Amino acid sequence: MVDFTLTDEQKNLRDMAHDFAEKEIRPVAWELDRDSTFPHEIVKQAWELGLMNNHIPEEYGGPGLDFLTGCLIEEELGWGCSGVGTSLMCNGLATAPVILGGSEEVKKEFLGMLTEEPKLASFCLTEPDAGSDVSGMRTTAVRKGDKYVINGTKCFITNGSHADWYTVYAKTDKEAGHRGISAFVVPRQLDGVSVDKKEDKLGQRASDTAMISFSDVEIPADYLIGEENKGFKLAMMTLDRTRPGVAAMGVGIAQAAFEFARDYAKERVQFGVPIAMHQAIQFMIADMATKIEASRLMVWKSGVELDQGRRNTLISSHAKRFAADTAMEVTVDAVQVYGGYGFIKEYPVEKLMRDAKIMQLYEGTSQIQRLVIAREVLMPRRVEEPATAAA
Ligand SMILES: Cc1cc2nc3c(=O)[nH]c(=O)nc-3n(C[C@H](O)[C@H](O)[C@H](O)COP(=O)(O)OP(=O)(O)OC[C@H]3O[C@@H](n4cnc5c(N)ncnc54)[C@H](O)[C@@H]3O)c2cc1C
Repeated sequence: MVDFTLTDEQKNLRDMAHDFAEKEIRPVAWELDRDSTFPHEIVKQAWELGLMNNHIPEEYGGPGLDFLTGCLIEEELGWGCSGVGTSLMCNGLATAPVILGGSEEVKKEFLGMLTEEPKLASFCLTEPDAGSDVSGMRTTAVRKGDKYVINGTKCFITNGSHADWYTVYAKTDKEAGHRGISAFVVPRQLDGVSVDKKEDKLGQRASDTAMISFSDVEIPADYLIGEENKGFKLAMMTLDRTRPGVAAMGVGIAQAAFEFARDYAKERVQFGVPIAMHQAIQFMIADMATKIEASRLMVWKSGVELDQGRRNTLISSHAKRFAADTAMEVTVDAVQVYGGYGFIKEYPVEKLMRDAKIMQLYEGTSQIQRLVIAREVLMPRRVEEPATAAA
């Protein structure tokens, strides 16, 4: 039997995240967006409440939550403000490769750092010339005795300016394309690590997006995550685990826009009746509701597949692609429902429209999700296959 009933723990955590989003995030979200201010205070509060580091196992001080519960929390934070939500959830992206492949010592040191204090970590995959096609990355890691020396530049790194450590992908075999990539943990305070540029963005302006350079950065060889040249596989396994949560954040943005549009449609009177009485508006509101419902179902399924130990590459790409496109479509329609007021910053929906755009871009663009979906449906793997990389 398929049962969509949440456990009491899941309901409580979802309600707590909603409450936090309503009381602590919403009241400042538009101001943080206007000034592009990083939400330091909210990070501390969320950490204290236990709304961060959801999937760090209990033995390293985390709550060890299942993926469905993580999605429930991410939807609520995205509903509050997805810029803040992205800042709070980025540790999940940076820690997933460590949880999957780090040595016991690395897990204790670096996961422990995040659970002992409200610290941040970033995931450094993208480079100026290597976005969707990471095999073109130029960052290198050269083994010298018991160390690796890292050189290169990563761009668009979420929380990059504020992170205490980075998960960095670098070439250990320059000739081997994606099969020559390895993953490392790099502490921020090491000589040669620098934050070069903070980006000024269209949306999610409360989140920090930075360019990070590594110039002859020496790290102990033990900071290699997993095996040498298996970093691409680790990155794909990471994205399988984080795309459900990113998609959930897209659902949160869409839900927020839907609620604003629904309420406005009932208040705004034109031609002698609330605009909600006009069928054209009703149909827009109905389509928003349907798309949100379908997105949420895909998000839940993509989390549950992981929780039940199954490979979720296909459903997590369905969820990420559909929820991202839904967030974009619903927020554009919300602006339409508001008419001219929707275009004015004093009203809430233009921010949501700007925020939604990134959902179609980061953690694999909507085109890349379609490539993954096409590959999975044209060359399907057996569903019983355990959760492994898409590589
Ligand atoms: C705000 C923000 C935060 C980010 N955070 C992080 C982070 O924390 N860590 C990190 O490593 N990266 C991060 N990124 C990077 C993000 O993941 C990349 O921007 C994304 O993967 C796309 O890469 P690109 O920008 O180089 O675009 P490109 O790869 O140059 O793509 C350009 C266009 O071409 C399309 N395209 C490319 N290849 C194909 C193809 N084969 N078929 C069809 N269409 C294709 C794309 O879909 C896109 O529309 C972030 C980006 C932003 C903007």
